[in-house]
Amino acid sequence: MSVETLCQICEDARATHRCNRCGAMVCDRHYEREYGMCLDCASRADPAGRGGDTYQY
Ligand SMILES: [Zn+2]
Ligand SMILES: [Zn+2]
Repeated sequence: MSVETLCQICEDARATHRCNRCGAMVCDRHYEREYGMCLDCASRADPAGRGGDTYQY
């Protein structure tokens, strides 16, 4: 039995990472390796703020 967990941000892709802050399961696109968090948490934790919708690696 395989349970696929969907990304909690886009709910479209399979979640392959877990946010260290909120524990959300997120897909590769919505995981910030640099922080080990989902993009949601990473954007809040980052004082510099990436602001807006543009996320770049
Ligand atoms: Zn996603
Ligand atoms: Zn998070």
